[in-house]
Amino acid sequence: MENEAQMPATPTRDHLDALLPADTPTDLMARLRTAKDGQARALALVEVARHTRETSLGSAQALGEAALSEALRCGSARAAVEALIGLTFVSASLGQQERALDAIGRAQAMLEEHRLTELLSAVLNTRALTRLTGGDVTGARQDLQDALDLARQARDPADQGNALVNLAWLACSTGDPKDALHHLNLLEELIHTLGDEGLAESLSAYLHENRAHAYALLARQAQELGREDAQRQAVQQGLMVLRAARTALQATPSLTSELLCAAHESTLLRLQGDLRGAERLARRAAQLNAVLKQQLYIEPQVCLAELLQARGEIDAALSQYSAALDIARRQHRHLDIQRLLSAISALHEQQGRLPEALDVLREALQAANTALDRVNGAAARHLQLDRELRQARADASSWQDRLRHAEVQARQDPLTGLLNRRGLEEGLQQLQFPGDGARPADWSLLAVAFVDVDHFKHVNDRHSHAVGDQVLRVVGRLLAGQVRPGDLLGRYGGEEFVLVTPVRTRGRAHGLAESCRRAVEAHDWSALLPDMHLTASVGYAVTTPDRLPQALRIADDHLYRAKNAGRNRVFPAAP
Ligand code: GH3
Ligand code: MG
Ligand code: MG
Repeated sequence: MENEAQMPATPTRDHLDALLPADTPTDLMARLRTAKDGQARALALVEVARHTRETSLGSAQALGEAALSEALRCGSARAAVEALIGLTFVSASLGQQERALDAIGRAQAMLEEHRLTELLSAVLNTRALTRLTGGDVTGARQDLQDALDLARQARDPADQGNALVNLAWLACSTGDPKDALHHLNLLEELIHTLGDEGLAESLSAYLHENRAHAYALLARQAQELGREDAQRQAVQQGLMVLRAARTALQATPSLTSELLCAAHESTLLRLQGDLRGAERLARRAAQLNAVLKQQLYIEPQVCLAELLQARGEIDAALSQYSAALDIARRQHRHLDIQRLLSAISALHEQQGRLPEALDVLREALQAANTALDRVNGAAARHLQLDRELRQARADASSWQDRLRHAEVQARQDPLTGLLNRRGLEEGLQQLQFPGDGARPADWSLLAVAFVDVDHFKHVNDRHSHAVGDQVLRVVGRLLAGQVRPGDLLGRYGGEEFVLVTPVRTRGRAHGLAESCRRAVEAHDWSALLPDMHLTASVGYAVTTPDRLPQALRIADDHLYRAKNAGRNRVFPAAP
């Protein structure tokens, strides 16, 4: 029968040997071989699976499944819950969100049925991680806070430690390093009270790594705000923490922890201005990521990207960001995807590549919507997930806002706030070919005017480019004062402005052109340009919307005639 092959089978010894990684520690192997009953065997398998996680998630998942079937076979709910907790973690890391949610749901149900309250804190800790992966920050924080409270009541230091580590990690993930440091201080106090040395050591490793992360984040934020002292201080504290981390790593080696510490150190060195050291450590982190095979972490790529960005190697930086994005996408890591897309779009924007920035924002919106769809689907099965839903909705709408903003920006001249060439062209296109009759009825006769500042080169030459920019801003404002809402007004380039507005008569078109010219001439320029008198020339044409392109050429030609006739005038003269 086909189904039989999919039933959880009791693992045979051969089957298990094939699953066990070659580097399984001997004490774990012994525990497995000498297990006195099914439950002990299942729990030993859970331990081996946990150990295997670092190097092979696939094997860890197979071992977890073996542990689960062994636990179910011998009827140990406790071992089954432990196995399900491990499986949740592994599935979430593999990007199998649905499977992770299913596993944690089963763990929860089993725990309630068998009143295994002592495992509730561990279940909540794990559920929080899957929630955070899906982008539900609020739900994750609530779970962790509940996990911490329960562990405190039960006086279980391991669960307390886990909850504190995870709360710090969540705070870092959401860009709140101060909150992270607060939780880590509590963790340090907890570690000091521990009798169990093994637990103290493993929690210390997490403590140092997360502290280094928090300081790196603090330093980065200080840099963004231009607070040099705070930046320097955070860098120093971060590097000091990393020294403690290295000592701890010697006692209990962990490739994951080493990788993350290398990435944090790279960030700190970059912020200290040591780009060479930063590069060495970023490469080391990437190397460790390759050794781990999983490529679970985006930190190596992100710190390389930031380094390349600092060096001005923008294309190389973008390629590192997209490598990180691939990893985050594979795992459906919602927050990371959003963070990376945001960094990529900012980079494009900074390079003035607005269309590309816009494309990335569109993708971010789509990613937020996909997350929303996914959570929607899951919510049908898990009613509790409504919080995820709200978060995903909030993300989607904030991206929508940013997208709208970016769309405006892509059409806007940053200097004057008027339309740029692209915005003008789109506006003209719409006037010429209105979709579903959208052109207002009175837009049947149009005036097109080119306004060009006279001898603007002298402004730049005699004053400065900065003063030239100021002048362009003022001219933009003066022209904006002549138009009505709905008219097209933009900077066509340089010191040349274009105005398109509906008119009833040719006389009205001339009047408008003349009022633009007069606005520039009549303005009091003495504060900006003490020794100059600024004027502008205007060429205009009157047309019907279907002949706009020709009218633009005619108006441009008329501008040229106005210049040749001596400037500070309108062409054609009064009709
Ligand atoms: P004319 O009366 O014939 O129009 O002379 P003009 O000097 O105004 O025209 P020309 O086309 O010779 O020079 C335009 C100058 O405008 C040259 C360019 O450096 C300057 N310019 C173009 N864009 C900007 C800008 O964004 N800011 C500033 N400050 N200057 C700009
Ligand atoms: Mg000019
Ligand atoms: Mg010009």
